[in-house]
Amino acid sequence: AVSIQLIQCGKTFANGAQALQPIELAIQPGETVVLLGPSGCGKTTTLRLIAGLEFPDAGGQVLFGGEDVTALPIEKRGVGMVFQNYALFPNMTVGENIAYGLKIRKMPAAQRQAKIEMLLEMVHLQGLSHRRIDQLSGGQKQRVALARALAVEPKVLLLDEPLTALDAKLRETLRADLNQLLRKLGITAIYVTHDQGEAMALGDRVVVMERGRIAQIGSPQDIYYRPASHFVADFIGTMNRVTGRVHDGYLRFAGGMLPFAATSPAPAATLMFRPEDVEVVADGVAGANMQGAVLSTFFLGDRTRLVIDIGAEQPVIVETGRRASWRAGEPIALRVAEHALLHFNHGAAA
Ligand code: ADP
Ligand code: MG
Repeated sequence: AVSIQLIQCGKTFANGAQALQPIELAIQPGETVVLLGPSGCGKTTTLRLIAGLEFPDAGGQVLFGGEDVTALPIEKRGVGMVFQNYALFPNMTVGENIAYGLKIRKMPAAQRQAKIEMLLEMVHLQGLSHRRIDQLSGGQKQRVALARALAVEPKVLLLDEPLTALDAKLRETLRADLNQLLRKLGITAIYVTHDQGEAMALGDRVVVMERGRIAQIGSPQDIYYRPASHFVADFIGTMNRVTGRVHDGYLRFAGGMLPFAATSPAPAATLMFRPEDVEVVADGVAGANMQGAVLSTFFLGDRTRLVIDIGAEQPVIVETGRRASWRAGEPIALRVAEHALLHFNHGAAA
C-alpha cells in the first residue's frame, strides 16, 4: 500500500471560485481516510486532486509513496474510482464491465475470466457475470462498480459518495461489507461522504471539512468526543447547547447551572454536551444541575430520546437506555458530568 501526501494543495477554478484553500494532508499506507463535510465544502475537489482529474494551484504538490505525481494524469497514478452514480457501461454485462480495464491492459481471456470470478466473489455477486447492468438493483450496481475499480489492482481506491443513492437499509449492509473489504485488502482508500454515520463507521481517520478548509483531522472518537471547533461539534452527531451568564465558576441559566471552568472573556457563554452524557436523576436528588419539563419522547428501540424544556431558547435532548415512560409536561431533573461539557472560545476548544 502507498502513502499519500497533499502539500499546500489549493484549487481555484477558472471562474475564480476558490473551492479549496491550500491544505496539508498525510495519509498512511493502507489507511482508510474519510473526507466529511456539508455539500460544497470541497470534498470532491480534494478527491479529484488526488485522482489526477484536477491539478492543484501553483505551489501545490501531490505525493504517492513520497513520489511527486502532481503533474501525472489519472491513468498514470494507479487509482481506482467509485462514484455515486455508478458510471457503468449500461449495454455491457457485469463481467464485461469488470474486465474493461483488464482488456485494455491485454490480459488473456482465460486469466480475465478467473479474475472476474474472484472479484465477483469478493463483492458478493457470485454467478452474475452475464447479467446486464440494467437488470441490477442499485446496490448490485455499486458492487459491480467497486469490483471494476479493484480489477486493475490500483494502489489507491477513491470513493465519492458511493452509497448516497441507495436506501437506508442497503446503505448499512454495503457499508459493513465495504468496511470488511477495505480492511482485508489493506489498500489506501479515501472515501468522500456528507454522512457522519458513514464517516464514523468506515474511517480510520476522518477529515472534517468546512468551506474549503480542514476543520479537524482525527479518529472517529477524536472528532466525536473532542471536536476542535463549534462547527465540528455541531456537524457530528447531536449536540446540546446551553447559553447563560458566567458567574463564580458556573454557567447560570433559567433551568439551572453547570460548572464552567474556563475563563470567559464575555459575561455570557455557551456550553455543549452530548445527549448520552445527560443523566436523568430522581427529582430533588442532590447532584442534579438542570431542571425542566418533558416536551416529548421518542422511543428508538434500543434507547429513548427525551426532549426537555429547561426554559432556555433551546430544549435539551437526553438519551437514556433505560425503559422510560415519561408523560409530556412531567417535571424532570438532569445531571451532566463536568467532563462531558465542551466550551468553545472564538471557534476553538478552550
Ligand atoms: P463537495 O464535494 O464537498 O460537495 P466540491 O468539491 O464539489 O464540494 O465543490 C466545492 C466548491 O467548488 C463548490 O462551491 C463548487 O460549486 C465549486 N466547484 C466545484 N467544481 C467546480 C468547477 N469545475 N468549476 C467551478 N466551481 C466548482
Ligand atoms: Mg461532492
